[in-house]
Amino acid sequence: MKRQRRTKIVATLGPASSEPATIEKLFLAGADVFRINMSHTPHEAMRAFVNTIRSIEEKHGRPIGILADMQGPKLRLGAFRNGGAQLEAGAAFVLDSDPAPGGELRAHLPHPEILEALRPGDRLLIDDGKLKLVVTEAARDRAVTRVEVAGRISDRKGVSLPDTILNLSALTPKDRGDLEACLEAKVDWVALSFIQRPEDVAEAKKLVRGRAAIMCKIEKPQAISTLDGIIELSDALMVARGDLGVEMPLERVPALQRRIITSSRRAGKPVVVATQMLESMITLPVPTRAEVSDVANAVYEGADAVMLSAESAAGAHPVLAVETMNRIAEEVERESSYFEGLAAQRWAPEATGADAISAAARQIAETLDLGAILCLTSSGATAMRIARERPRPPIVALSPKIETVRRLSLLWDAHCVVMKDEHDIDVTIKRACALAYQEGIVKVGQRVILVAGVPLGTPGATNMVRIAYISEGGGVD
Ligand code: PGA
Ligand code: MN
Repeated sequence: MKRQRRTKIVATLGPASSEPATIEKLFLAGADVFRINMSHTPHEAMRAFVNTIRSIEEKHGRPIGILADMQGPKLRLGAFRNGGAQLEAGAAFVLDSDPAPGGELRAHLPHPEILEALRPGDRLLIDDGKLKLVVTEAARDRAVTRVEVAGRISDRKGVSLPDTILNLSALTPKDRGDLEACLEAKVDWVALSFIQRPEDVAEAKKLVRGRAAIMCKIEKPQAISTLDGIIELSDALMVARGDLGVEMPLERVPALQRRIITSSRRAGKPVVVATQMLESMITLPVPTRAEVSDVANAVYEGADAVMLSAESAAGAHPVLAVETMNRIAEEVERESSYFEGLAAQRWAPEATGADAISAAARQIAETLDLGAILCLTSSGATAMRIARERPRPPIVALSPKIETVRRLSLLWDAHCVVMKDEHDIDVTIKRACALAYQEGIVKVGQRVILVAGVPLGTPGATNMVRIAYISEGGGVD
């Protein structure tokens, strides 16, 4: 099965997409990676998602990435009677430490350290800033607020505190428990929320110990000021526009998106654009023109992936949302302006064998109009350096490691295939060509370029390019 699209799609799973049949439809509609939001998913449900995804993977013979998103020190309200309440402007609303379900007059704020830190005048932004409360009276375990921006408040909505200084670690005790459970379930990617500095990434890396790749969500002003250091330690980045747009003035988000994408691409790290991409599809079967433009813009900017959140997790049209995103990306990528834009923004290779060879492979493949760039990659590092070049011929990433091909399902354009280790280079080339043919990437009569490290299977030893011809039956001459 071959996708017609370079930009990958990440679809979040949730109550609207918990049935195995729905998850399969999302995959068939174009989801390359599934995101499990650990803020809302109990361990048992997470394991059920992983099992379902792995069986779809097996049924269709295609690797699928699983991204487990850690809640991080995100502050959330407790639950409400009847799921929520309507708050009127000017009304008083109390936040306290009582775990009883909330209502129109009060809610549980299950973070004692915040109740303690709140001072009169501090703003609380609820649900990505949709509601605004201002503290009028603060006691140790209770704060009285005035509703400044009215709206509906509901179960477990996020709370941001732009005026309050909080000393929080990037991984809460809940995150540590979730992380272990997700790693045991063998997810491919772990996303870290609300990280502030490179040290936060280093701390997480020590816990993960290579069992999954690490994606850092950029959603705090502090992370913007240490961006390059964070990117250096991360395996991938997310432009987490939901919280970014709460923690920073909204009008700064588009330029920050561009900066995060540019810096990630320059470093050769996959970057995902997330949140509200097709927001109105949570309820409606068609997106707004502005949403279509937003997805198109992220594709034009060369993002590795675009993401659906509530649209696929809790919306009325999860499959339609993926289909819509798929169509938008395909359409943009058909335009000549897409590759012209990517070519205009390309960085010189770094002084490594892998980079010099990746740049050369792209140039050869484009000059000779080759059918594909086949990349034999053990850890996935070489495939990432080739994708950094944003070549026109499709990239086929072949690895003996299932973990590697699953992780690479997030990478721009990479069509990922498991290929068992061969010791003989000529046998390997034959097998790689045959697989590219079987997968429908190349046709008989086309030529391809192969990038590998010889001896095979030595990470970091990319040292070979070879042009091969796809002959009858997908063999090679
Ligand atoms: P969230 O992260 O959905 O976990 O909050 C994404 C974002 O903040 O945009
Ligand atoms: Mn967030």
